[in-house]
Amino acid sequence: MDDEIKKLTQHDMSDDCPVCRTQDVVAMALMPAAAAWEMASELPRFSLALQGAAGLLGAMLEEGIDRTTIDSAISDLLDDIEAAIAEDQVMGGPPQGSA
Ligand SMILES: [Zn+2]
Repeated sequence: MDDEIKKLTQHDMSDDCPVCRTQDVVAMALMPAAAAWEMASELPRFSLALQGAAGLLGAMLEEGIDRTTIDSAISDLLDDIEAAIAEDQVMGGPPQGSA
């Protein structure tokens, strides 16, 4: 995988880890905004999530980043997210009202 992209997917274990900070922005700002836009525009659930993600990744393609690099990075990230979901379920569901 392209080293620059790999850096964007791997935690650096610092207090201000860029991966953790980015995931916080996505969870706090992008996900609720996409859900609100879907509802307000009467679009199917997850339509903006999917099209938005694809569009943002398309911008990376346009910048000349190799598609296999992007595919591989997304696959790694989804693996991590699946593992986190499984972990949350073991702990009794996602945290509620802890934000
Ligand atoms: Zn991190």
